[in-house]
Amino acid sequence: MNILHISAECYPLAKVGGLADVVGALPKYLQALNTNSSVIMPYYNTAFTKKNSFKEVYKNTLQLGNTSFEYSVLLLPKNVLGFDLFCVNIPNLLYQDYVYSNNDTERFLAFQIATLDWIITLDKKPDLIHTHDHHTGLIPFMISECYKYEVLKNTPTVLTIHNAQYQGWFSHDKVGLIPPFNFNNVGLLDWNGVINPLASAIKCAWKVTTVSPSYMEELKQKANGLENLLSHEKNKCLGILNGIDSKVWNTETDNYIIKKYSIKTSKSGRQANKKWLCKEFNLDINKPLFAFIGRLVGEKGADLFPEIFLNALKNKDLSILLLGSGHKETEEKLINLKSNDNFNAYIGYDEKLSHIIYAGADFLLMPSRVEPCGLNQMYALRYGTMPIVNKIGGLKDTIIDINDNGYGICHEGVTVDNVHKAIIRATNFYKNQTKYTENSKEMMSIDNSWHNSATEYLNLYKSLKQ
Ligand code: ADP
Repeated sequence: MNILHISAECYPLAKVGGLADVVGALPKYLQALNTNSSVIMPYYNTAFTKKNSFKEVYKNTLQLGNTSFEYSVLLLPKNVLGFDLFCVNIPNLLYQDYVYSNNDTERFLAFQIATLDWIITLDKKPDLIHTHDHHTGLIPFMISECYKYEVLKNTPTVLTIHNAQYQGWFSHDKVGLIPPFNFNNVGLLDWNGVINPLASAIKCAWKVTTVSPSYMEELKQKANGLENLLSHEKNKCLGILNGIDSKVWNTETDNYIIKKYSIKTSKSGRQANKKWLCKEFNLDINKPLFAFIGRLVGEKGADLFPEIFLNALKNKDLSILLLGSGHKETEEKLINLKSNDNFNAYIGYDEKLSHIIYAGADFLLMPSRVEPCGLNQMYALRYGTMPIVNKIGGLKDTIIDINDNGYGICHEGVTVDNVHKAIIRATNFYKNQTKYTENSKEMMSIDNSWHNSATEYLNLYKSLKQ
């Protein structure tokens, strides 16, 4: 079976969040299950595209309403990433230094049209098309409704919702940008009076998955306006937990970290990474180190961080290190907080630093209000860092509290007080170093790799090809 993933992000070419990690890993693990799997994404101006040579395999002009754009499809062959990576290059439109901007309707529509225009020219067309999030959400509609893609009508489509908060809304004034289709079915594009690519994909895809079973259930109650639609379409929806790429996230081979380690050598290995972090960020190595990595947005509970951290720092016997960027007001408050002892922050994105934090911090804070799957907690487990999580979405599906014979610390609901109490439980747990180290080793032995999840996706694909 030939699967084509269509996505706005794919690690290592372009990563903003978990979407990139998933699209960069799932195809590799499908290949290992003898399922040919490739990815098509926009060609951006990133360190990775600058460093690697791509081969042009197709060239054409696409029509976006009255405007035409020259574009090409570039290929990075299988031997580099473990799967064929195709990129759509539309100079001046997609090819930018950034992945997302405030004005992406035209960019991602052009990407989707270019992709489908190219697919219909292929001798060997994909057996199944897997789209990810709203940026590629119009693909299922265009396949089923646009006259020029008629040849793909029987190709099954799967949508994975990585995050339902963002839906890609745009006005019906722009409907003319979509290639001609049977206008009687324009309702398939609409949700609440606007064109909603994510809603359209939920209506038109053959199957819809979310990145954890709990998130699927939660979306029926709270999905930024799509609750009724998801409840209505529940029979074609299912949750499949993401895995982690244990080839990339491997403490024994990770070139980003300061000292590599196995389960056996984890105590000294983790200590060396912590030592580097504490030196770099002027923190005391003898205190338990709490860390956060991620986007500074409300979904992650980031608006509460300044208050949570101030509260926690009253206890002089712990340190906090944050890596992230996002909401400007939160960033500023966190920068101001740096004048406190025992706190430091790197405002920005740094892949290497994130790996060292997973390897060297003692606890990883994830007080998310919404967490579709969450990869950070699984990376933390793999690297032996104890996660402290709000029991929601994928966090609920992957972390068991120490008081329930588990290995993490869970709280219910995101308030300053709840997170504070969880931090106190953590500092108390840390006092017994023998128990802490045992727990850390136990976490490292948990298998959250993609193998199981890829098998579930494969079963889903097979069920659509019968
Ligand atoms: P989301 O996709 O909602 O941002 P996930 O937990 O699914 O959250 O994935 C986040 C991914 O992005 C992880 O690989 C995490 O390490 C990485 N990440 C997030 N912010 C940063 C940052 N500032 N620097 C480095 N890596 C980051």
